[in-house]
Amino acid sequence: MRHSTPTPSKIKKTRYAVVGLGHIAQAAVLPAFKQAKNSELTALVSGDPKKLKQLGRRYRVKALYSYEQYADCLRSGLIDAVYIALPNTLHRQYAEAAARAGIHVLCEKPLAMTEQSCESMIATAFTHGTQLMVGYRLHFERANLEAIKLAQSGKLGDLRLFHSTFTMQIRDKENIRLRRELGGGPLWDLGIYCVNAARYLFRSEPTEVIAAAARGSDARFKSVDEALSVTMRFPNERLATFTCSFGSDETSQYEVLGTKGRLKVGYAYDYAMPITLEHWQGSKKKSSRRFSKRDQFAAELTYFSDCVQNGKLPEPHGLEGLADVRILNAIMHSARTGKAIALDGMRALKKGRRPTMAQEIRKPAHGEPKLVNVSQPH
Ligand code: NDP
Repeated sequence: MRHSTPTPSKIKKTRYAVVGLGHIAQAAVLPAFKQAKNSELTALVSGDPKKLKQLGRRYRVKALYSYEQYADCLRSGLIDAVYIALPNTLHRQYAEAAARAGIHVLCEKPLAMTEQSCESMIATAFTHGTQLMVGYRLHFERANLEAIKLAQSGKLGDLRLFHSTFTMQIRDKENIRLRRELGGGPLWDLGIYCVNAARYLFRSEPTEVIAAAARGSDARFKSVDEALSVTMRFPNERLATFTCSFGSDETSQYEVLGTKGRLKVGYAYDYAMPITLEHWQGSKKKSSRRFSKRDQFAAELTYFSDCVQNGKLPEPHGLEGLADVRILNAIMHSARTGKAIALDGMRALKKGRRPTMAQEIRKPAHGEPKLVNVSQPH
């Protein structure tokens, strides 16, 4: 798969349209522009006129577009980039239209639902000389980067196991997470974080996956799984296991266990809570740290705008998104067939960089904005 580094643009601030004004856009993306000094919010795209009116007024954005007017937005000359915060099945269509118009794309995770869609998105960005980044905000987040540093320091010995749980109760029956046709399901929403974390902590690619899915009689889980438990085999016989669920009480954590010690990250995947990192050796706690809540989305925007302005290839670029989507599809296949699924060619796919402390960007947290026509998913 080819990817290019687009030429630097001369602009001082990268101007964005946020596409889709749902929960993540309103709770996290729109307020993040205040702290992302190299970025500017200049347009909004939504199917809801009330959101456009109220959020346009609140954020002083005059360029307001419906989805039918998306092409006009892309050609308006008012934006350099889009932040795509739409349901998963719509990412490809909106990202490719942007790239074809010469507009850079920062796309929410998962990049798309199939490998073929991811490849097409990467190829379209390449052809049109635009940047494509997946919104993996934890690649700039301190606690996760410190966990990587500790895991790689040798203090835990030889890394053997990764174990994670990411669960919540999705109460709103209409939520996109419970709708298969929009790319719902706990693996695509939550499990993707566990897969990505195992890869950045072990710094290698899985060779095989085996999974089991559960779907109880709860009416919420008519079209998507309630939960999945997954084992991923990594080189050197390392194992990563995780469970993700939409039908259990809320947790978000991982452990990495080595031959000499272990680390544990609490609220590991969260953006709204302080994150904790503990280092243990047997029964002895070697260190315990708490990282205050930061604006992870301002960090992500700042990083992407810097890539756009200086022609740097983002880490995580489209290939990183493709790697996860390939693994997620293998997991779904395993859950459906009950068979272990071999993953070939992962190393060839992932030749790029991986997140390190050098990518840390700290931005102060903001308060909770008032939401317009949108409900909390959990
Ligand atoms: P929401 O359902 O809250 O928002 C999605 C928005 O997409 C809707 O509000 C709507 O906005 C727009 N939309 C356009 N077409 C449709 C359609 N056919 N059905 C439903 N909505 C539509 O979802 P989230 O904001 O929680 O998630 C959006 C994306 O962000 C997903 O890809 C998800 O994986 C990702 N995400 C990332 C997180 C992170 O931490 N990085 C956290 C949560 C989600 P409008 O009314 O303006 O048209």
